[in-house]
Amino acid sequence: MTDLLYLSHPLLLDFPAEVTETFPLPGGRFGALLRATAFYPTGGGQEHDTGFIGAAAVLDVYKDDAGRIVHVLDRDLAPGTYAARLDRDRRLRAMQHHTAQHLLSAVLLRLFDLESVSANINGYTPSTVDLAVEDVPAETLRRAEEEVNRVIFENRPVKTYSVDEAGVAALPLRKPPKVSGQIRIVEIEGYDYTPCGGTHCPATGSIGLLKIVRTERINRKLRLHFVAGLQALDVFRALHESARAAADLLSARPEDLPALTQKLLDQVASLRAELEARAGERLANETRALLAEAEAVGGLRLVTRLYAGRPPAELRALAGKLLAAEKTVAVLASFDGGKLSLVVSAAPDSGVEARGLLNRLLVPIGGRGGGDARLAQGGGPGSEMQARLLFEQTRRELLAVQGAGGEVSV
Ligand SMILES: [Zn+2]
Repeated sequence: MTDLLYLSHPLLLDFPAEVTETFPLPGGRFGALLRATAFYPTGGGQEHDTGFIGAAAVLDVYKDDAGRIVHVLDRDLAPGTYAARLDRDRRLRAMQHHTAQHLLSAVLLRLFDLESVSANINGYTPSTVDLAVEDVPAETLRRAEEEVNRVIFENRPVKTYSVDEAGVAALPLRKPPKVSGQIRIVEIEGYDYTPCGGTHCPATGSIGLLKIVRTERINRKLRLHFVAGLQALDVFRALHESARAAADLLSARPEDLPALTQKLLDQVASLRAELEARAGERLANETRALLAEAEAVGGLRLVTRLYAGRPPAELRALAGKLLAAEKTVAVLASFDGGKLSLVVSAAPDSGVEARGLLNRLLVPIGGRGGGDARLAQGGGPGSEMQARLLFEQTRRELLAVQGAGGEVSV
C-alpha cells in the first residue's frame, strides 16, 4: 500500500517519488503507483492534486477499486525515483477551502443548529455546502460569516490524529464517521471534531478569510457558495475593479452605485414615457395634416400618400389613426427603391372593405398581403409610378362602388 504523505504532511509539496509500477491507460496516458505519495486523490468532496513526477505531468489522481492510488501521467516512466512537485497554488487553495468548509459547517451547527449534508471543495470557483433546509435568513448567514472569520483570526491550530472506536465515542464529533476501525479526526482545536481524510491548513489563520457569495435552492436543500483565502482575494479584486470601472464611468464613488443606478433607471423610464407621448402627438398631428389634404371622392374622403422608405409599422400606425375619421378611406404607400409597401384603412361607415381593396390593388404589382375589413397591409415589387396608378385605381373603385350603391365585395 502507498504511504499517504499528505495525511501527516499537508504542506509537503516537493518529495522524492519512488515509482514502483506503471501501466497504460486509455488515451495514451499512463497510471503510476508510488511507494509513498503527497498527491491527494479525488475524494471526500476535494479534488485531486496535479503536478509533476520527473518530466511526467500528473493530470489526475484517484483511488481505484482495489484501493490503489493511481497517478495519471501524460507519459510513461521507468520504475525509479524522481523529483516530484505538486501544483502549490492548487493545493493551497484546496486546503484553505477544505478547512474553511469544516469551520463554516461547525459554526452553522453550533450557533444555528443547521446541519451540513454535503460539501464540494473548489479552489478556483466557489466551494459549496448543502444544508438540509430550504431557506436561511440573510442575517443568520451574516452572523455565521462573522463567527467563522472570528475563529479564523484566532488562528486556532488544526490537528489531525487517529482514534479507535472507543476514542470516536469519546469525542463530540460533528458527524459520525463513514468507516469503522481507526478513524482520522481533523480537529479545529477545541471547536470542531470531524472525521476526514482530506488536506487542511495547519491553523485557521491560513484560511485568510471566508465570504458566502451566493445561496441557491436545490431539491429542497439550500446550497451556500463560499470563497476563502486566495480565491476570496480573486473575488474581491474582480468585484472591486468592476465597481471601480462602473463608478468611474459615472464619476461617482463605488458605494454610491446602487442609488445612482436607480436614479438613472428612473430617468430612463421617464424619458421613455416622454418619448412615447411625443410620438403619440406627432402621429396625431400627422393624421390631422393628412385629413386636411384628403380629397372628396363622391361622399367619401380619400387619403393617398406615397412615402420614401418609411417603415410599414409607421404606415400602419397612421392608417390606424385615420380609421377613426368618418367616411374616410386611406391608401398609404412607401417605396424603398425596390419594393412597394401598401397599407389600406377603411372607416366603418365608408362602405369599403380594406382587405378587398388591398387585394385588388396588389393584383397589378403581383404582391401579397393580409388584414381585415378595416385595416390591411401588403406589398410587392413596384415603383413610384405604379403607386400613383394604384391611387388612381382606388379613386375609380370608390366612385364605382358609390355609383352602384353597394359595398365593395371581397
Ligand atoms: Zn476535511
